[in-house]
Amino acid sequence: MSSLEPREDRRIYVCVRKRPLNQRETTMKDLDIITIPSHNVVMVHESKQKVDLTRYLENQTFCFDHAFDDTASNELVYQFTAQPLVESIFRKGMATCFAYGQTGSGKTHTMGGAFSGRDQDCSKGIYSLVAQDVFLLLKTSVYKKLDLKVYGTFFEIYGGKVYDLLNWKKKLQVLEDGNQQIQVVGLQEQEVCCVEDVLNLVELGNSCRTSGQTSVNAHSSRSHAVFQIILKSRGKLHGKFSLVDLAGNERGADTAKVNRQRQLEGAEINKSLLALKECIRALGQNKSHTPFRASKLTQVLRDSFIGQNSFTCMIATISPGMASCENTLNTLRYANRVKEL
Ligand code: ADP
Ligand code: MG
Repeated sequence: MSSLEPREDRRIYVCVRKRPLNQRETTMKDLDIITIPSHNVVMVHESKQKVDLTRYLENQTFCFDHAFDDTASNELVYQFTAQPLVESIFRKGMATCFAYGQTGSGKTHTMGGAFSGRDQDCSKGIYSLVAQDVFLLLKTSVYKKLDLKVYGTFFEIYGGKVYDLLNWKKKLQVLEDGNQQIQVVGLQEQEVCCVEDVLNLVELGNSCRTSGQTSVNAHSSRSHAVFQIILKSRGKLHGKFSLVDLAGNERGADTAKVNRQRQLEGAEINKSLLALKECIRALGQNKSHTPFRASKLTQVLRDSFIGQNSFTCMIATISPGMASCENTLNTLRYANRVKEL
């Protein structure tokens, strides 16, 4: 793990992951317009129409810390994103990993918030890979003597409200005290003693996340899911790893058709993703002011945007198809803006 440790001067890592074309796209003869020519470059081959109606390709190139093509496994993505940050929470740090992208681009697949029994099991995602390394490090001689206990929380932010996924989606209040300390009142913190315990929590939260929904993706794609692994020493916070499966960043294409509820949802998501970008940028630039109050998401993650010991990675997930081109470009531009200068 040592070669991948975060550098003190780098607080933000931004990576892109492309998923394979799926069956629907293949059937519709959608074209793969994304190439990853090297380990940190993404190219988008956008189809444009000339005035005389012939088509040509316009290539756009983006650079990131890492770019993963559609053959990359969750383990590989993990090695270059969340894994280097795990040890920082043992050193009283705050680590955060965001999955950002359009609905259907692979955020939940990457994080391991699979819907049980559906297309994958959650034991292979980043939630469980972080848990594995946390329990490994806990047993090493350096950290054994710290007498740390491990806890998990899992909640959802939807429409600017926080719901506890470990407690039947109970709605929770977020309070800020005079010292700007943020508290999610009553949030369940479950002690976990092994990876299996963590997987059980993830599964419980996942089933809670989708319960009562007729279409599985409909609601979950409009909310942010936050899974946290917390280290405590004698009841006091020692370090925290927040793993965030963000709401889909797609814009409502035909806004005239969608209902009012959807418009409000979309506005709220936009607001929080904008606030998130500003907070991450503030972290990268070591700014003293972090605009965390601009959204519930950034408010509850405030601790992760301040202090010398906060590290963030973003995995921007993209769909390969021409049909997703506009969303893909939006994702890449956002990720580009988040990068440290
Ligand atoms: P999101 O959470 O961004 O809406 P999902 O993670 O649910 O998207 O992915 C949508 C579908 O694509 C799922 O069926 C998922 O298994 C599949 N998928 C996503 N990323 C990959 C990948 N890298 N390799 C294979 N299948 C993937
Ligand atoms: Mg999802």
